[in-house]
Amino acid sequence: MNQLADRLQQIRTAALEALENITNQVELEEIRVRYFGRKGEYTTAMRGMGKLLPEERPAIGKLSNQVRTQLMETIESVATDLAQQKREQQLLAEQIDITLPGRSAQVGKKHPITQTLEIITYIFHGMGFQVAEGPEVELEYYNFDALNTPPEHPARDLQDTFYISEGVVLRTHTSPVQIRVMEKQQPPIRIIAPGRVYRRDYDISHTPMFHQVEGLLVDRNVSFSELKGVLYSFARQMFGQQTEVRFRPHFFPFTEPSAEVDISCPFCQKGCRTCSGTGWIEILGAGVVDPNVFRSVGYDPEQYTGFAFGMGVDRIAMIKFGITDLRLMLENDMRFAEQF
Ligand SMILES: [Zn+2]
Repeated sequence: MNQLADRLQQIRTAALEALENITNQVELEEIRVRYFGRKGEYTTAMRGMGKLLPEERPAIGKLSNQVRTQLMETIESVATDLAQQKREQQLLAEQIDITLPGRSAQVGKKHPITQTLEIITYIFHGMGFQVAEGPEVELEYYNFDALNTPPEHPARDLQDTFYISEGVVLRTHTSPVQIRVMEKQQPPIRIIAPGRVYRRDYDISHTPMFHQVEGLLVDRNVSFSELKGVLYSFARQMFGQQTEVRFRPHFFPFTEPSAEVDISCPFCQKGCRTCSGTGWIEILGAGVVDPNVFRSVGYDPEQYTGFAFGMGVDRIAMIKFGITDLRLMLENDMRFAEQF
């Protein structure tokens, strides 16, 4: 064998060895240029073909073709492998782990008391009542005196009422709103006054701040039966059409006659824990407005009659949603609000 054949064999061995250790496209291109570029080792070696004897040419020509084909095929195959590897690495890097739990969006919920207030307001709107509002820091006069609650009345005791200063209290009920409305407006009046009220109390069914809705209707010839009609309608819209209502005689300073109003327990037929086994739940107080209240705002009790009622919204919400501890309402725990 002549020198050129040896050279071709060397090139083949060296090139194949170099191709074994290629790790990227740049290196591969370097190898290709090193052997097959214009000044490449193979290209240069082949220039020696012209110096061969004619009888040597067929064998060397065959060998050079074999070497060239083998190396070109190997370069091609390495290129394919590199492209495949690159693609796999890319897929691995971009992989999304779908086993991770998703992040759920936090959706707000209305507090059960807000929901209940909205339902109550909606029901009374339907019966022609308008919403009236008044201050939470209230004059003692509006909170007590004008509502026929004289200074010696036990409700005015420091034990029950938050006094801000001499003659100023945190309102203990929403009834003073009635007086403020009647001072400004002549009958007919048909209002509800929803809002926060304050008393010095804290246990499973009392919190120092709670919510009331007060209702007032004043006109000529208003009777107790009209009051019953309004409250029946309210109770059935609030707690269901099967709800029964009963009135028990009671005393309130600013109404006469007065009654406490119970509904049939929505949870049982014959008695359960919520209704303390009686089958009835008290939901509000009501009565015919005392003539003294009318006199204090300058209405003529001979011409006008009216009725008033008041209910604890927190209590209504507890019954409506089956909540057993009133204090849960104030803890601002999202897990609580999300249940309703
Ligand atoms: Zn019951």
